[in-house]
Amino acid sequence: MASHCPHCKDRNLHPSRIEADLPALSCDGCGGSLLSLVAYRHWRENQPELAQSDGDGDGGKLDEVQDTSVALCCPKCRHFMTKFRLSADARNQIDLCVHCDEAWLDRGEWQLLDRLALAGRLTQVFTQPWQNRVRSTEAERRAEQLWSERLGTDYLRAQELREWLRGNAQARDILAYVNQVRDEIPR
Ligand SMILES: [Zn+2]
Ligand SMILES: [Zn+2]
Repeated sequence: MASHCPHCKDRNLHPSRIEADLPALSCDGCGGSLLSLVAYRHWRENQPELAQSDGDGDGGKLDEVQDTSVALCCPKCRHFMTKFRLSADARNQIDLCVHCDEAWLDRGEWQLLDRLALAGRLTQVFTQPWQNRVRSTEAERRAEQLWSERLGTDYLRAQELREWLRGNAQARDILAYVNQVRDEIPR
């Protein structure tokens, strides 16, 4: 039985290739592809030279890549698919059916994975540690943004000082020394 595109609904998916030796099922309407992780793992085993990256690479024009924000139904089992963030930089999410191990890639998302040097690590994206790391990186960046707004023009200087202290064996002593000014500062 033909599988329907989870996005267009009225279109069937047809056999295609994401890479020369990586088969998938694609939709002519939206350009999305359903990728079996079994096929992906098989392909991955034959690509030992693929770059390893932590996902923080330069994604280029990330916002031009299509992304589905609505919940998708797996074309195979009709369960809702789960969304997984790629990195703190890319807003894109990859949908995965955790029952069938089938991933849905919107148009351009495979190329995005490639640009982020994540094409070789797709299965890692679907793990809790990866998702936790994306969230904590985002939280750190938000906190940093708030400090930058609060400190204004002194922010860069404060950041430099912090980085300098981070690598300094005497950091505790220096902080104690500097902290002496605390009592002199008007509240
Ligand atoms: Zn479609
Ligand atoms: Zn499914």
